[in-house]
Amino acid sequence: MSEAADDEELKVSVCTDCARHPSLKKMIEADLANGICAFCCKTDAKVRNPENIEPMVMLMRALIRFYWDEFSYNSHWGGEAVLELFNEADNPVVEPFAANEYYDEFDHLLQEPPYPDWDKGVSIYAGFDADGMRMLNSAISRSTPRPVGDLRRRLDASNFSTIESELEALIKPFLADLKFVLPKGGTWFRARTGFEARFLRSRGFDNQIVRQPYMGASIGASPNPGNGRLNREGRPVL
Ligand SMILES: [Zn+2]
Repeated sequence: MSEAADDEELKVSVCTDCARHPSLKKMIEADLANGICAFCCKTDAKVRNPENIEPMVMLMRALIRFYWDEFSYNSHWGGEAVLELFNEADNPVVEPFAANEYYDEFDHLLQEPPYPDWDKGVSIYAGFDADGMRMLNSAISRSTPRPVGDLRRRLDASNFSTIESELEALIKPFLADLKFVLPKGGTWFRARTGFEARFLRSRGFDNQIVRQPYMGASIGASPNPGNGRLNREGRPVL
């Protein structure tokens, strides 16, 4: 190997097989290349293009912010190293590291720079502001954003139609991510929680509770069009 090649920075990435979270899989498949997967340690894996890695890094940071409280990964507060989150067997993001061979390289990739501008990237640490240390971040999945909380409170007190346009404006930026196409000709099942009736089936000492599901008309469409079970009254959505 030439000296120039020796000096080249080792570029690691994540492969499609190691990605667990659907958004991570999608992100990798959007720009595929052959390369090193830091998790399974294969060197000819189908990975996110290491030359265009930043969007994937920011997505992984966003997933960390979504699922974990900062307390569990900020070592200044007694947490473990960030990458140990991915070594949790049931973590929803990625397969745990098969070996530590590329652990340091991936750690660097994930953590640098730690505080990008808010409109350019995601920081997993609350960090500091002019007044000093800020509060620790809590997992986004366990917290209600203030605008949503406010809307929810107002829904209890005011008419839906007055809040509807604000609600739409709140959701609008995310519509492209939420939209999906249902393939034509698919089979769908009606579902309804609960059951029609309950019986005790006795067989000597062996008693068994049997539930009869909703069937026929009792699981059909609502008798009042527009008032389906997932709809706000008079506003057909489904
Ligand atoms: Zn892999």
